Amino acid sequence: DSRLAAISAAIRVVPHFPKPGIMFNDITPILLRPKLFKDAVEFFVDRYRDVEISAVAGIEARGFIFGPSIALAIGAKFIPLQKPKKFTGEVFSEAYELEYGNDCLEMQIEAVQPGERVLIFDDLVATGGTLCAAMKLIEQAGGEVVECACLVGSPKFKGRYPLNGKPVYALVECR
Ligand code: 5GP
Repeated sequence: DSRLAAISAAIRVVPHFPKPGIMFNDITPILLRPKLFKDAVEFFVDRYRDVEISAVAGIEARGFIFGPSIALAIGAKFIPLQKPKKFTGEVFSEAYELEYGNDCLEMQIEAVQPGERVLIFDDLVATGGTLCAAMKLIEQAGGEVVECACLVGSPKFKGRYPLNGKPVYALVECR
């Protein structure tokens, strides 16, 4: 598909960012080209339009760029999963390890109702650690994770997916 090829080609590969040895895939050039940005959102909307999903949970920060558009288009609510100390009120917390350090994600306790079917969205999946933490937050609240969706997937870690039995869908592969 030429639209997928164009999305992939727009990703900027930045060696040694944010640390030596890391090949960072910068997705922001896609946002500066409205046709590509729209195509990317539409691929996900087409995939999930007829799936029973009542919430899209997006991971800070780049999951916030695509997640809300997908949620609105499929008639779902948007749930922000944020880094610590950003929410007011009570939260579920989940600490996890990254390729470059430790991190933690939080979700407001009222965000997910028991039995709700949730799509998790992030810009990129590498080890899957971030998505696993997001899944635990949804499941702590009694929600069911339908799938994890990312703009970019890493062939290096593909053997690890599905994560905890849940499918991981990536639109394009890391460059
Ligand atoms: P994982 O937890 O799967 O190892 O790493 C994925 C998380 O780190 C995502 O939240 C993603 O935004 C961020 N991340 C790691 N590497 C990259 C990268 O090369 N490009 C982008 N855009 N995000 C990355």
